[in-house]
Amino acid sequence: MIFETLSVFPGVFAPYLDASIMGRAQRAGVFEFRAHDLRDWTHDRHRTVDDAPFGGGQGMLMKPAPIFEAIDDLSSRGPAPHVVFFSPCGARFDEARAERLSRRERVLLVCGRYEGMDERAYSLADEVISLGDYVLTGGELAALVVIDATVRLLPGALGDERSAEDESFSSAGLLEYAQYTRPASYRGMEVPEVLLSGDHARVDAWRRRSAIERTARWRPDLLAAAELTTEERDLAERVARETRGDGAHGEP
Ligand code: SAH
Repeated sequence: MIFETLSVFPGVFAPYLDASIMGRAQRAGVFEFRAHDLRDWTHDRHRTVDDAPFGGGQGMLMKPAPIFEAIDDLSSRGPAPHVVFFSPCGARFDEARAERLSRRERVLLVCGRYEGMDERAYSLADEVISLGDYVLTGGELAALVVIDATVRLLPGALGDERSAEDESFSSAGLLEYAQYTRPASYRGMEVPEVLLSGDHARVDAWRRRSAIERTARWRPDLLAAAELTTEERDLAERVARETRGDGAHGEP
């Protein structure tokens, strides 16, 4: 899979994407990354990419021409890219969207800056993504989030093929169960005995219950779409009722 970015800060991506799992995945050929500088598609001496908004108002907007020319040019080389724009007005990014992107051959992430872009530029977008209900200074972090979340779903990215399977938001629609490592006792807090038992069936049952309880406590909005048996749904509803209004983020 090929990820490309189009932005006025092409240098900000590599330090993150060359490190750790993303770096290893690139070296292993799981994905390729190319950062393009939007200013390469300007024609004036100052390589201008922004201009004042019609109608007045604060700040500057990204001009349409460099964006159109860049996307035309990049699209003419290689397979047609799936073009993603970023905006707080976009559709909220989630695991399902990452999953869909992971099936694309080539994805071009177009990062805004300043007060955003001339509205006509969005006509080039196959999808417009928002990370959440807050405003960032630029789309570069959003692009990194999308690349990271998508690449870790690609075969070979995590090394252990099973690692992505029972994580939060995976197929069962639940948050991940609680996990512990050594020591078994720390500052008076004990690891649940069943996890030390070596009894895999009991461990699996405990994990399933933990995932349901944590989802009911922290993200009851996910329960409607989760795949649960009747007993599991009763448990989830009981936990959700008991914790309603209690935003505490302690152990379930
Ligand atoms: N004036 C715009 C915000 C522009 S912020 C508005 O109020 O809607 C500048 C750029 O940062 C945007 O073009 C987008 O690329 C990026 N950005 C800001 N907030 C974002 C968010 N929540 N999700 C994804 N990208 C965001």
